[in-house]
Amino acid sequence: MGFEWLRRNDVTAPVTLGQASFETVASDSPTTTSLVLVPDPPASARLTVIPKTAWGAAPVVGTFVEHQITRITVHHSGSFLKDNQNAPQRLRDHQTYHQTDQGWPDLAYHYVVDRNGHVYEGRPVWAVGDTNTDYDPTGHFLICCEGEFNNQTPTPDQLEAAAGLAAWARTRYGVGLDTVIGHRDVASTSCPGDTLYAELDQVIARAHHLFDGPGVDLVTLDDQIALGLVADIESGRV
Ligand SMILES: [Zn+2]
Repeated sequence: MGFEWLRRNDVTAPVTLGQASFETVASDSPTTTSLVLVPDPPASARLTVIPKTAWGAAPVVGTFVEHQITRITVHHSGSFLKDNQNAPQRLRDHQTYHQTDQGWPDLAYHYVVDRNGHVYEGRPVWAVGDTNTDYDPTGHFLICCEGEFNNQTPTPDQLEAAAGLAAWARTRYGVGLDTVIGHRDVASTSCPGDTLYAELDQVIARAHHLFDGPGVDLVTLDDQIALGLVADIESGRV
C-alpha cells in the first residue's frame, strides 16, 4: 500500500486508501478550468482513529498528570501479534494489565497502531504517559506499534500510520521530527524491538514528507462506524 495523493480535480469524495485508515479529502476549492496547466497542490490526508468507546476500553482509573508535548517516542507492545484480528483484544488486555497490575490510570500510550495500520486512541495526549522503565515520559508523545519487533517485523501499513501520527503531532504540537526516537534511546529496554527500531529513519523521513507536503488530519471515527470497523478487524475482514 502507500499514499496516493489525489489532486484536487481528481477527488469527488473521500476515498479510503488501503488498510492504513488513511483517506484523501477534497479541498473546498471549486473545480475550475484553466488554459494554464499548473499542478494542483495535493489534497490533505485524513488519518482515522478508532475511539476508546469502540475498541472496548475500560474507564480511566484515578487521575492523569498534564504535560506539554515536546518530543515523540516510538514503542512496541512487546507481545507477538500473529494475527491482526487479535489486535483489539490485545489492546484491551494491555489496558487491563496497565491499570490492574501496574496501577496506572489508563493504557500507557497515546496512540496504538495495529499491523494493518489501524490507529486506536489511547490515553489523552495532554496526559503524561506511563512506563516501568527508567525514563520520565513527561513531554513524550507516545506511539505504540502492536507487536514484538525483536521477533517479527512491522508492516508497511503500520509504519505508514506511525509516520502519519508523527506528522500530525508535528503540526498539532509543533514538536520537531528530529525528536523522534525509540524507547531504547532513553531507557534500558529493547523496546521498540530491533526490526522496528531499524525502520525509524524511514518513519521519520516519511513523516517529513507528509508534513512538508499534504499534511495529516487526525479524525476520530464516529462511534457507529468505529464499532463496525472493530467488528471487521476482529473478524479478519480488514
Ligand atoms: Zn516502550
